[in-house]
Amino acid sequence: MTVLPMTYEEPVQTIELRRDVTKHLKRGHRWIFANCFDEGGRQPKSGVHLLSFKGELLALGIWQGDTQLRFRVLVLADEPIFRKNNIARTLELYFESQWRKAVEIRRTFDLKITNSFRLINGEGDGLPGLIVDIYNDTAVIKHDHAIMEKIWNAQGIAAKIQGSFNQIQCVYLKRRNDEQEKGVNIVGTLAPEVQFLENGAVFASNIRDAAKTGFFLDQRDNRKMIQHFANGKTVLNLFSYTGGFSIFAAKGGAKEVTSVDIAKVAIQAVDRNFAVNGLKTLHHDIAADAFEYLEQQNVEKKKYDLVITDPPSFAPNEKSVEQAKNAYAKVFANSIKLVNNEGLFAASSCSSHISTAQFMEICQEAFSKARKKGTLVYMGGQPVDHPYPLAMEELRYLKFALFRLD
Ligand code: SAH
Repeated sequence: MTVLPMTYEEPVQTIELRRDVTKHLKRGHRWIFANCFDEGGRQPKSGVHLLSFKGELLALGIWQGDTQLRFRVLVLADEPIFRKNNIARTLELYFESQWRKAVEIRRTFDLKITNSFRLINGEGDGLPGLIVDIYNDTAVIKHDHAIMEKIWNAQGIAAKIQGSFNQIQCVYLKRRNDEQEKGVNIVGTLAPEVQFLENGAVFASNIRDAAKTGFFLDQRDNRKMIQHFANGKTVLNLFSYTGGFSIFAAKGGAKEVTSVDIAKVAIQAVDRNFAVNGLKTLHHDIAADAFEYLEQQNVEKKKYDLVITDPPSFAPNEKSVEQAKNAYAKVFANSIKLVNNEGLFAASSCSSHISTAQFMEICQEAFSKARKKGTLVYMGGQPVDHPYPLAMEELRYLKFALFRLD
């Protein structure tokens, strides 16, 4: 018998909303927060349930009893696939349709050049809480909430992955790095190092211990852009992680590349990535606090032709946005000060709480603080394998801007 990719437990309950969010859902938004529900009474068990407003059935989705994000929509009650009396069939039809559409987008990758990509981007592909990343012959499944491990049946998902992409030999379920059991092999055995291609560059990752699922796939297009601009330049890559931007700068003909990251293992991985690509570029690997490094380089009046600054998210929630804006402006300003006249500066933010408009304001503020003027050369974001529903602007999290100093 085939294992279904989605599971649910009986009894499925109908949860009544306190507020009318019909319009919000009909526009394509998929999240409902705790303040839209009555807090008292017996709460449903986290899992798949139905949703209603004033007794009228609205949607089928996932109830998360322990987070502010309380309900994640799967299917609206007025969609043709919705079958009120057959939840199993509804889920099956829904999953099949979302999966097919997700695979179609990823078929655009030429596997001889790029065999690493995000196959399922959670809500962005209509499958809440499910991430599937492909690294050559290895697929990594990851969830953003414990309940998702029960809903997305790993065996069933693995069968779907292998059915769609026959190069996959290993399917690994990766949990949070601080969990006791970091992950489990669902199919095959995870190799200690997996090598994969991104736009012709080779990257090696120790997936088990790496950040996220193993690599920051979302900067792919932006790294490619850096390759085009790096020829003959001295490049500083701050918050480098395993050197994605460093490798593309080197491949683009950079004269000298410096990578800075606080994590020693990440810096060691940059060296490994230079080696697996056979790159002979002069490379400085620096395991240090990038904020301190910036201050120190400014004191020493160091200059580079191209500086890339891609810090971790400074805004974990809405409340921290103001503080985060100042922190971004400061680190960007200190980066700009290190750039030669007519040199390039690339700024990035992966915070979903900072909008594109706010990000551009931050960049303006940073240039002003550094007493420099800039010209926007390229504006990038997340690539095709990180789609998001148009109605959910907050899932457009990645911003990347390349400036020339005038
Ligand atoms: N640009 C990278 C991704 C960067 S993710 C890529 O293309 O793959 C952010 C990185 O910032 C992480 O590797 C993390 O280790 C690093 N980091 C966090 N705090 C830091 C600090 N204070 N100084 C330097 N690096 C830091």
